[in-house]
Amino acid sequence: MEKRVLSGIRATGRLHLGNFLGAVMGMLELQNSPDYETLYMVADVHTITTPFNIEELRKNRREVIIDYLAAGLDPEKSVIFQQSEVSEHLELAFYFSSVATIARMQHLPTFKEKVKQYPHHSTMALLNYPILMASDILVYKAGLVPVGIDQEPHLEVAREIARKMNQLYGTDFPEPKRFATKGEYIPSLTGEGKMSKTVAGSFINLTDSLEEIRKKIRSIPTATHAGGEMSEGVKTLFKFAELYISNEAEKYKEEFNKGTLQFVTLKDAISEAIYRDLQPFQERRKKIESDQKYVDKVIKEGAQKARAIASKTVKEVRKKMGLL
Ligand code: ATP
Ligand code: MG
Repeated sequence: MEKRVLSGIRATGRLHLGNFLGAVMGMLELQNSPDYETLYMVADVHTITTPFNIEELRKNRREVIIDYLAAGLDPEKSVIFQQSEVSEHLELAFYFSSVATIARMQHLPTFKEKVKQYPHHSTMALLNYPILMASDILVYKAGLVPVGIDQEPHLEVAREIARKMNQLYGTDFPEPKRFATKGEYIPSLTGEGKMSKTVAGSFINLTDSLEEIRKKIRSIPTATHAGGEMSEGVKTLFKFAELYISNEAEKYKEEFNKGTLQFVTLKDAISEAIYRDLQPFQERRKKIESDQKYVDKVIKEGAQKARAIASKTVKEVRKKMGLL
C-alpha cells in the first residue's frame, strides 16, 4: 500500500509564510511523489479550541481551501476536505481520550502557550486538541505528517495513543512521523516566538501586496546600529535573508559584523524577493477565487473520499473495543 499522509491548517485566517514553508511545501512534495496517498484538510474543528467568531470561521475555512488550491494542492492527486464534514474524527477522538491522561495533556508546551495567549479560555476543547489531532491522523492510519516543528509534541502524543490502542485493543495504527521542511520554524516579525495566524503583527500573508510586505518587514525590530551580538529581530531578518536571498545573505552578514549594514537596504531586498516568490501563487489564487463552483465541488468530493476511509477505521475500533 502507498504510504498515507495527513496534514491540516486551522481556519483562523489566511495562510502566512510560516504555514507555507513549514507545512504546505512538505504537503506539495508528498502529493507529487507517487509513493504517497495524501489527505489535506482545513482543521475547522480545531479552530473552536480558541476564541473564534462564527462568520470569520465560516469565511476562513473556505479561504484556507482556496489558499491550498492556489499553492498547488491538486484534488486529482490529494483528498482536500473540511475536517468538520468527517465526524468520524470526533468520534475516534473520544475513544482515544480513554487512553490519554489529563496530566499528560496539561504539560504540553502548546497547551501552556495557548493558555497564556487566552487566559480566560482554558477549555476542555483546548486540552483535547492533541487527542483530536491524533484522531485526524490515525483515522486514516497515516504514517507521515508534513507540519512545522511546533507540532512535534502533538505527534509524540499521537504515537503514544497509537501504541496504547494497539496494545490494549489489537488495532494496527502506525506511529506517525513528522515530515520536516527547511522552513520548519519561521519566526514572528515581532522578534518573539513563531509566526502565527492568531498573533497580530507576527505574520506575512501569502496574499500580501509588495507595500504590505515592505511595511511588515520594516517593522521587524532591529537596532539602529549594526554590529555586536544579534538581537532576536536581527536573527529573524537574517533567517529571511537565508531563505529568500541566499546568494546575498553572506555579504549582508559581513556588513553587519563590520557595522556598516543599513538595515533598511537589507529589509527592502528581502521584501522584494518575498513578493517575487509569491507572484505565481497570487495570480493562481485570483483565478480560483473567481470560480466558486469549482471550490464547492472540491470540498464536496473531498469529504466523500475522506469519509469512506475514516468510517472503516472507526468501525474497526468500535468492534475491537466492544462497542459493536
Ligand atoms: P494559530 O495561531 O491559529 O495556531 P498557526 O499560524 O499556528 O495559527 P496552524 O493552523 O496552527 O497555524 O498550523 C498550520 C501548519 O503550519 C502546521 O503544520 C504548523 O506546524 C505550521 N506552522 C505554523 N506556524 C509556523 C511557523 N511559524 N513556522 C513553520 N511552520 C508553521
Ligand atoms: Mg498553531
